[in-house]
Amino acid sequence: MATVTLKNLSKQYDGAESKALQDLSLHIEDGEFLVLVGPSGCGKSTALKMLGGLENATGGEVWIGDQMVNDFASRDRDIAMVFQSYALYPHMSVFDNIAFPLQIAKTPKAEIEKRVLAVAETLQLEQHLQRKPGHLSGGQRQRVAMGRAIIRRPSVFLMDEPLSNLDAKLRVKMRAEVAQIQRKLNVTTVYVTHDQVEAMTMGDRVALMRDGVLQQVAPPDVMYHDPANTFVAAFIGSPAMNLFHTKLVREGDTFKVLLGDQSLTVTDAALSKYDGLADLDGDDVIVGLRPEDLEDATLLPDHPKDQRISAPVQLLESLGSDHMAHVAVNAKQVNVDTDDDTGLSDLDLKDASATCICRFSSQSRTKTGDTAQIAVACDRLHFFHPVTGTALRKS
Ligand code: ADP
Ligand code: MG
Repeated sequence: MATVTLKNLSKQYDGAESKALQDLSLHIEDGEFLVLVGPSGCGKSTALKMLGGLENATGGEVWIGDQMVNDFASRDRDIAMVFQSYALYPHMSVFDNIAFPLQIAKTPKAEIEKRVLAVAETLQLEQHLQRKPGHLSGGQRQRVAMGRAIIRRPSVFLMDEPLSNLDAKLRVKMRAEVAQIQRKLNVTTVYVTHDQVEAMTMGDRVALMRDGVLQQVAPPDVMYHDPANTFVAAFIGSPAMNLFHTKLVREGDTFKVLLGDQSLTVTDAALSKYDGLADLDGDDVIVGLRPEDLEDATLLPDHPKDQRISAPVQLLESLGSDHMAHVAVNAKQVNVDTDDDTGLSDLDLKDASATCICRFSSQSRTKTGDTAQIAVACDRLHFFHPVTGTALRKS
């Protein structure tokens, strides 16, 4: 077992105009399951390949345990990799597919037998050892590929979107299985995915990247509740956090967020979390509201009056367990996928209209076309800088 440390790891591919990875620094604990997540093209595979020795870094260092391994060949790094396209040998049995790395290493037959059986038990493949890959389900084949990686007892596992080829249902099952197997083996693991749900459910910690730059690394609940910036806020969670350009005004000791001619009181809980707000008055801010923090107010009669808004319901999607109300609010939508957000002018503010998604509970009787009364959990408002998108926290 081993720690993994990346120090200012960078990569610029030959002929590329910009860096695929910029100064990535991460320390991964012994036995930790770290998920590297981000949109397609953000540099996840590039980082993993440099860790595995399949690409050379153009800057920075890769450490496994107490060794700097930049100049080590892949086979000398004591790692095992599992990829999206798991190449099993179709003419070989499951047993031989798993045993292959040991056969290459000329491990004694009795030892091979013992280890393959142990791995097969871990992966629940005992019943299938004599079958050929063609006779297995997608999930079983993926487990065989994992078996081949596990059997070498590497210090570090590297997995790059290993579940992407599976259908949605199987993916859900396999992500739980992979996480369980990792915990059982307790091997340091770096797992790459573009799927934020996989990242949130599997990782001890999640590292979110954008355009080759690390945005935040933290346990899943911290990523969710304390996003470092609007990109993290929008990427983690589904439906995404509602993000609006608004103004923050001060009335005596009270801070209010303006949404057209309506306002929401910023509670002490939100103020102490976003302590950067203390210096503002009449300034542009980005406010973030998670859909589940917006409830049909008729179900919460005691909810404070200054933490409510009313808004026309444009669309109501019933999911059974809850109802997604798409309502119109007087604000300007933040689009984190483009960098053209430079705050708002007073003109924008007057005519602005944005869609806000609320997760009403199933008891809600609100319909499309209604003007919904919405109870906002103002303790859980999020605030970001209008231009940089960084969370308005001093520390
Ligand atoms: P991800 O795995 O997050 O989808 P990648 O690490 O594959 O992203 O790619 C990051 C960036 O580097 C992308 O812009 C991609 O086009 C570029 N890239 C990846 N591999 C190569 C390569 N071999 N040569 C040139 N550019 C590459
Ligand atoms: Mg990739």
